[in-house]
Amino acid sequence: MSGRPATRVVRAGLPGPHDGEPFLPGPVFAAPFHLSGPIDASPYGYARYANPTWSGYEAALGELEGGEAVLFSSGMAAVAAVLATLVEGDVAVVPGDAYPGVAMIAAQQLAPRGVEVRVVASDAGEIMAALPGATLVWVETPSNPGLAVLDVTTLAAAAHEAGALLAVDNTLATPLSQRPLALGADVSVASASKFLTGHSDLVLGYVAVADPERAAALRGWRGLIGAIAGPFETWLAHRSLATLDVRHERQCATALQLATVLDGRPGVADLRYPGLPGHPGHELAARSFGGRFGAVVCFDLQTEERAQAFLGACRLIDEATSFGGAHSSAERRLRWGSDDVSPGFVRLSVGLEDAGDIVADVLAALDSATAGD
Ligand code: PLP
Repeated sequence: MSGRPATRVVRAGLPGPHDGEPFLPGPVFAAPFHLSGPIDASPYGYARYANPTWSGYEAALGELEGGEAVLFSSGMAAVAAVLATLVEGDVAVVPGDAYPGVAMIAAQQLAPRGVEVRVVASDAGEIMAALPGATLVWVETPSNPGLAVLDVTTLAAAAHEAGALLAVDNTLATPLSQRPLALGADVSVASASKFLTGHSDLVLGYVAVADPERAAALRGWRGLIGAIAGPFETWLAHRSLATLDVRHERQCATALQLATVLDGRPGVADLRYPGLPGHPGHELAARSFGGRFGAVVCFDLQTEERAQAFLGACRLIDEATSFGGAHSSAERRLRWGSDDVSPGFVRLSVGLEDAGDIVADVLAALDSATAGD
């Protein structure tokens, strides 16, 4: 499929014009498929191994990521499928300040099985220092929730030089802003529960790789453990892809507007948004992300009470976890106890509402939260 990303998301993975057929074929519900004789008579024999609805969505994801995509039942199932390739004696370099699931699997499942786990910050210097002897390097850029931006091209070259693979969590950037495989990474992993599906009603994930053998191994693992997506969810996800570019464009533009208004505002500390000139990694983000800096804005209201008062005073921003959905939402990250952030740290995900309404709502809620100070 040719064209710019906005065109590609509309048509990616669709079967093309066939008279009498829908644009996007409906979900195929099956456990076994008719299959006579040899098991390779059809790609579809039993739906834990393959399903035509996945095939269409995976073709779309693979096209956007520039590789072969393998769909999983959640982002964490996708993460786990990559980490499961590590064996005793391997060395994993994982971020301690990114989505905590990776470091948790590393500590709870890999380390007890003899994998050496090196936990580092999402910082190029720390990652480089941890490379000697590494088998797999895991990075998240931008990272969640710190929004650190890393140079995938440089890290991929350094990881390969050290004999390691580089895996990139592409959830926050989306393949519209960043294509890790084209930058040299070996693996691009994402939670499709966020921007990709975008309506806060699905949990899905995928791994994209350039190497067909690695893709086959991931499919084999998925079929074995059964971490599979349902056909209806997959169909909804594929349907949602057509609007990804317009959603993402609007969400990124509103987030930049909001971050710009919050920059320097009294009471708002440690504002993080890669689109702001003061953000560490801004120049790299400006070069890399095609003018879209994501829809997540983070800031510190310094105390738990002020952060909760802010969340309670918002009228258009729901208190909820996750990000990337059509509805603006925010939460105090420390409530989960798994991120290394301060008690007043708020992660806000900008949705599809009118930008002026969102900015006004945030400012009014901040005024209300700080009124008694
Ligand atoms: N990676 C990142 C960056 C995430 O934020 C999340 C979830 O929040 C995941 C992976 C896990 O994805 P899922 O919730 O779809 O399992």
